[in-house]
Amino acid sequence: MPQCKMCGRKSIFLSVNEYGLCDMCYSYICEDYRNRERILVESRKIIETSKNSETQLCRINVMKEHFQVLLKYEKMGIPITDPPPSVLLKRLDIERDKITKSKNLEINKEPLGRKYKRLSSEFEKQRYNMKEEARQLEKLLENPQYEPNLVEEIRSFEEIRLHNRRLAEILDIMVDRNNKGIELEKKGDIENAIKLYEENVADEFFGTHPYDRLAIIYRKRKQFNDEIRILKRKISIFEKINQEGLHYFLEHCSKDYPKELIEKAKSFKQIRDTKGRVISNPYPVDNYRKRLEKAKILKEKYKERIR
Ligand SMILES: [Zn+2]
Repeated sequence: MPQCKMCGRKSIFLSVNEYGLCDMCYSYICEDYRNRERILVESRKIIETSKNSETQLCRINVMKEHFQVLLKYEKMGIPITDPPPSVLLKRLDIERDKITKSKNLEINKEPLGRKYKRLSSEFEKQRYNMKEEARQLEKLLENPQYEPNLVEEIRSFEEIRLHNRRLAEILDIMVDRNNKGIELEKKGDIENAIKLYEENVADEFFGTHPYDRLAIIYRKRKQFNDEIRILKRKISIFEKINQEGLHYFLEHCSKDYPKELIEKAKSFKQIRDTKGRVISNPYPVDNYRKRLEKAKILKEKYKERIR
């Protein structure tokens, strides 16, 4: 007596196809496959075009979920895709590992200064979410049946402590280089001081010391190309920091803040409140630009002189 593999219906009047499925089940599978195929094609397109590894990994997981369902059909002996879902799942795993590996490489190549900033802002977001959760908890606390989860609370504090230590370690590396550089300069070992300051510049350090010192040392040595390179780096780093600071200021200043002061902030000038306290103190990037122009002029003059 014919029986459908999927729904288990059994009757002499039932017609099952070559895969042992009744009409109803077969058309269900076809429809299900079409819907999943659309999502699979879409995901594939996103994986190919996206440059963001998080997006790619997320899409690979979506594809895997759908292939897991299609795998059930494969196991029932239904030729669903060519190559079959089991093979495609393995390929997706390999692809996922590859993306993860290159993502890790990318993170290891990340300059320390950038890493520091990334970790700080990621943690800020996380803490914001934690605050949200705390608000939810407060609501729950109004419910007398609620029992607070102390383990969860302790874990949060532990996380903050660990995070701060990680940030301090990164910062220490760069601050140490500056301090050693200052010592070496005092001893007259300029060559090794330069090496340390250059390492901090390569790491996109967000304090001015290494840039200031290198620009001065290179000018004294008439290495104008090096001075120009350092000043360009300095301008791009501190311009960005100023913009981030402005962004933060505009987001957090009160709505009735004097318009003229907001305009002043937008032109990256120092702002003081009525008591004379400094509220916003952007880096004088315009001065860095002036120095850069001067270095370019000196370079041309120097070239003419040694000709
Ligand atoms: Zn059936």
